[in-house]
Amino acid sequence: MGLIVQKYGGSSLADAESIKRVAKRIVETRKAGNEVVVVVSAMGDTTDELLDLAEQVAPIATGRELDMLLTAGERISMALLAMAIKSLGQEARSYTGSQAGLSTDARHGSARIVEVAPIRVRAALDAGAIAIVAGFQGFNRGTGDITTLGRGGSDTTAVALAAALDADVCEIYTDVDGIFTADPRVVPAARKIDRITSEEMLELAAAGAKVLYIRAVEYARRHGVTLHVRSSFNNNEGTLVVNPKEGEIVEESIISGVAVDLSEAKITVVGVPDVPGKAAQIFTLVASTDANIDMIVQNVSTAATGLADISFTLPKSDGARVLKALEDSKDQTGFHSLQYDDQIGKLALVGAGMRTNAGVSARLFTALFEAGINIEMISTSEIRISVVTRADTINEAVRVVHSAFGLDAEDLAKVHGGTGR
Ligand code: ASP
Ligand code: MG
Repeated sequence: MGLIVQKYGGSSLADAESIKRVAKRIVETRKAGNEVVVVVSAMGDTTDELLDLAEQVAPIATGRELDMLLTAGERISMALLAMAIKSLGQEARSYTGSQAGLSTDARHGSARIVEVAPIRVRAALDAGAIAIVAGFQGFNRGTGDITTLGRGGSDTTAVALAAALDADVCEIYTDVDGIFTADPRVVPAARKIDRITSEEMLELAAAGAKVLYIRAVEYARRHGVTLHVRSSFNNNEGTLVVNPKEGEIVEESIISGVAVDLSEAKITVVGVPDVPGKAAQIFTLVASTDANIDMIVQNVSTAATGLADISFTLPKSDGARVLKALEDSKDQTGFHSLQYDDQIGKLALVGAGMRTNAGVSARLFTALFEAGINIEMISTSEIRISVVTRADTINEAVRVVHSAFGLDAEDLAKVHGGTGR
């Protein structure tokens, strides 16, 4: 008998019919002789709708009440799903995050899991029941308050439970057939990946691939949880995200995928004196705002002026805060001016085989050149190359790059549902 954790996303639970369909699938897994723990997201776009509602009653909702509101979404799904399973004659019990023993720190809206003690979940399984757990939420021991783990947090809930219960696999059910070489909504010729290492998946998630959230991948990597990302609309095998043990040889594809991120902006600090300590000063300041910066480029200063420009990317949502902090420090830092650009797109090419293959960047840049797309920034890691282009050229960029690396499939990928919101 195996223990399987299954997570169903909002698009797989969009309405009553979908909930009944998912219930059937869960019952089949149970009847095949497995213990089953199910983690649910809120139905459809519920979380976004609750956020819109909050904004209408108060422009700035406080973390505590917002978390209280948002966690309601997952409670609706868990209770309905438990009812649907029971009506199929199988025992099911639903639990909120706190009932399932997920304690977190006190950071509302982006809490981190500090301990997982799924005592009641284990007891439900021992009693022969299917346990249903509300994703994306926990509670803080200190304050006694309900917290949320940040957008897409249900993936993390599922992985954390899989680790704590020592599950055989954590299945992430979604509206596409697995992880693709590019977003199939943008690149119809995207190809499903059968197997990918968690290292590559981390790079893809960090670069904006939305199918799995980065914190869930990190957690799975740290705790050795195998993920299986698959569609809830069919029985096809999806994508396995594996953690090769040290020394284990895995066949590495040169390129595993292309990810795109349109949520970032670029700040350029113009006219920074080219003397030791200026970058330290600027980025210490930026770090103090808690912004997550990504690419950094400094141009060579000209001998005539002795001034350099430093550009970096960061989430648009952090833009105003960082600009203000920099502006306030203008006299100490001694730069000339600031430029803010939120019309950028970031494309990242990821593949573990890049480590041992020359010419990957040349091929990438050539493909973009042939499509007439200008590159504004470049950064690389061992297994990733990222470039920044204009936002309105990014979809074209990902299509030509996908094609240039021979990733295009013969058949077009199928998106089963969801709005991709
Ligand atoms: N419902 C939450 C969200 O939409 C959590 C999740 O779906 O994982 O972000
Ligand atoms: Mg959701």
